[in-house]
This record gives sequence, structure tokens and C-alpha cells, in this order.
Amino acid sequence: MAGISKKCYRPQKENMEKLHYYCLKKSKYLKKFLEKYQVEYKEDVYLGCYYFELSDANQAYKKFLRYFGIYLLGEYPQIQNHYSEEEMQGAEWFVLECLVEKIHVDDRWKDMIMKCPYRANVFRREGYRHKKQIQELRVDSMERLKKRRYFCVTNARLTNELFCNETAKEILGTNWIGLEYWHIRKKNTDEIIPEFYQMYFQKSLPIESIVCNKSVSIVKCPKCGMQRVYLKAGLLSGISFIQIKKEMLNDTSVYYMPITLDKKCIDNYDLLIISRKFYQLLKKYRIDKGLQYEPLQIIY
Ligand SMILES: [Zn+2]
Repeated sequence: MAGISKKCYRPQKENMEKLHYYCLKKSKYLKKFLEKYQVEYKEDVYLGCYYFELSDANQAYKKFLRYFGIYLLGEYPQIQNHYSEEEMQGAEWFVLECLVEKIHVDDRWKDMIMKCPYRANVFRREGYRHKKQIQELRVDSMERLKKRRYFCVTNARLTNELFCNETAKEILGTNWIGLEYWHIRKKNTDEIIPEFYQMYFQKSLPIESIVCNKSVSIVKCPKCGMQRVYLKAGLLSGISFIQIKKEMLNDTSVYYMPITLDKKCIDNYDLLIISRKFYQLLKKYRIDKGLQYEPLQIIY
């Protein structure tokens, strides 16, 4: 039986099957791969993409990561872990993600301070290890939200700014520690976009609250020593390995968790962390269409 192995001391959650949804640019190699491993896919002719899902229990998943993992760096993989209703009900903290892209920002760097430049070896691409937003975001354009949608994100990959409309702001309220509502401005005119806000998560999850394990560790920026959480399994499945100590957290706070997918702190991302209280509020008023939650493992 698969369960009886030297790994059986690990929490069961780590062995849970997860489905990963992908939308990747079509190519003959990808097509060949999907056909070889009999992965069902759909083609989107307008976007030129293949849609497919892979279970990490499937042999093809590992092979897929090995051959195509590099293409995923700039993509938003849609991960859907199979959490039961019970697990969702029992969870106390969640990673919050929004899948609705409505705001376009080409160049956000004026609104940020950036530290610790790097040049990655493989791609020779330049970047910064730390970016911190210091003023209201200037955006190029914004599409209207569909009916009964309250939240959205930008088109930029590997950034994680969350936006909401006036209704959501009123429902959620201003009493959350670490949550600020910032105006958004139009880039060319500097005008404030009315009734729309960035939900600025300004409080980092205390680094001491992270439990290090086989898949999660703390790494230091080689230049300035700033600490980040390193997810060895990548963003794809790494979130389910994160364990946090309850005593450090306050359920009327929201936090961001700075993570990296690289030991040298090169690929950075901020996870948005919310408590059960926050989650319940979203559910109660049914304003969470387009939002996705991943429960975090809590250690007492
Ligand atoms: Zn640094």
C-alpha cells in the first residue's frame, strides 16, 4: 500500500492528490507530450493555448514539470487542491488568490522602491529581489467588473496586488489590522479611479511563525540578509506544505507572506494570508466570486 512507507510520518495533507490546471501557449512539443501521456486538453484558438489538467498523482505530472517547468515561471498556474468541505470548514487560515484580471499596468516601477538587483544566470534577465510599493499604483487601464464580482488583480505576472470595489470595501470594513485601502490612479492624468481600491496588505507574517520542513525553509537574501520563505516545491504545490504556528497570529489581522521559489531569492512573490473570520465575511455576503482559498496548516 502506498501509505505504508518511510514517509508515513508526514502529515496526510502532504500526500493529498492535487489537480493542477494549466493554460499554456500551444507548441508542437507540448501537443506531442500531452498526446503521448494521454492527457486530455482543449485548444483555445483565439488565445493560442491548450487547457489541460494534471493530477500530481499522475506519472505524467513529474515529467511535465521536468520538460515544461521553465515555461511556468511567468505563468499563473491555476492550482486546485482537492480540499474537502470539512477541511475548508476546519481551516483557520487561508492563502487568498484572485483570478479575475481586470487592471492593466505596463510599468509600475515608479510606484515601487526596489532593492538588491540581480542578473539571473540562465536567462540573463535583470530584476530586483525586493520590491515595495510606496505610493498609489498608477494603472494604464481598467476593465469593468462583471456583475456580482467585487475583486480583481492586474495582468502582471508574479505580483499579487488585490483590488476591490466600494461594496466589498464597505462589507469588509476598515478594522482589519494590516489592511489598508489605497486609491488607484490613471497613469496619464493622475486622476483617482472612483469607487475602486487596492487592498494593501502591509504587515508581513512574522518569520518566526513559519515551521521549516522538507519543502519549506527560510532563506536570506545574499545581498541584504532579508529573510523570505523558500518553497522548494514551487508555487504549484508548495502552498500545501506551509505550516504556521498559531500563537503568532491574530485573527483580526491580514498578512502577506514573502516567498521565493529560488534559494537566491530571485523569484519573489507575496502570498496574501487571511483568517477564518475574514473568509467567513466574504462567504456570508457572497462577494467572493473569482476568489480562491488554500487552507494553511496550523501548528499548535
Ligand atoms: Zn536583499
